[in-house]
Amino acid sequence: MTASIIDGKAIAAALRGKIAGEARRLKEAHGLTPGIAVVLVGENPASQVYVRNKSKALAEAGMRAVDRKLPADISEAALLDLVAALNADAHVHGILVQLPLPPQIDAHKIIAAIDPAKDVDGFHPLNVGRLASGLPGLVPCTPLGCVMLAKSARGSLAGLEAVVVGRSNIVGKPVAQLLLAENATVTVCHSKTRDLAAVCRRADLLVAAIGRAEMVRGGWVKPGATVIDVGINRVAGEGGKSRLVGDAAFAEVAEVAGAITPVPGGVGPMTIACLLLNTLRAACAQKGLAAPKL
Ligand code: NAP
Repeated sequence: MTASIIDGKAIAAALRGKIAGEARRLKEAHGLTPGIAVVLVGENPASQVYVRNKSKALAEAGMRAVDRKLPADISEAALLDLVAALNADAHVHGILVQLPLPPQIDAHKIIAAIDPAKDVDGFHPLNVGRLASGLPGLVPCTPLGCVMLAKSARGSLAGLEAVVVGRSNIVGKPVAQLLLAENATVTVCHSKTRDLAAVCRRADLLVAAIGRAEMVRGGWVKPGATVIDVGINRVAGEGGKSRLVGDAAFAEVAEVAGAITPVPGGVGPMTIACLLLNTLRAACAQKGLAAPKL
């Protein structure tokens, strides 16, 4: 193997330690405990795990997470009422509505109802527009984590040829915007892209956010490139057990790349660390305090 491993777990742990220090300082200096409301509708097992992990991480960093669990058959109007109440609650600095939502609820409507200042997921159209316009705002957690990992491997991203595979609103598009803001030259690929492998081979920095197990092969990667693998795919493993793999065929790609994020232990831990960062930033902004430099 030639690639060095970008240790997302360690980088996320270091960031979480710094955030916890800042949270302590905010409490001592300003009596402020950053806190968010985590809204979970229904009983999707994966969502339950995500929500539990997020709440635990917030508590470990000295912040407050209030879980609001709601029945799967809740009406859209009732959920909008809850969002309005959380918007008005001064102790709640962030609102996270775990997706997906049940079919009777329009997720776009719910996201648009969240106060953009409390939008710790960075999905509100105003924050999306701010990111696209190069203005400060809350940025989606997974893309922010991807860029931090890329910078940990490359330092400056300015002038790099970056290829993002995937154009979802939660990963591909915001990653592309953040890379553009870092002065990379960015190409965004999707299911209609012609000769995807050839486009990927141009990349100094390749971000795979596809949701297809091990789709990116060794031959798709430019020697020495940095590969950020966002994919989380469960596949059949040995002995009837399942295991997690990314969107890149790790063993093959690691023979060619200069640096690569593993799955698990790469982008995943950074997502949660960046949620803590957004919570801290949102709380500071709402109290008129300067955002901590982390
Ligand atoms: P998504 O909404 O399903 O988007 C997938 C994107 O990949 C789409 O833009 C799609 O293109 C593109 N795509 C699909 N098949 C393709 C193909 N054969 N060739 C080229 N492009 C193709 O997924 P997502 O929410 O962005 O998530 C992507 C992956 O990241 C998933 O594995 C997800 O579990 C993972 N994820 C991880 C984290 C984390 O914290 N680590 C967070 C979020 C997501 P079209 O637009 O043309 O359909």
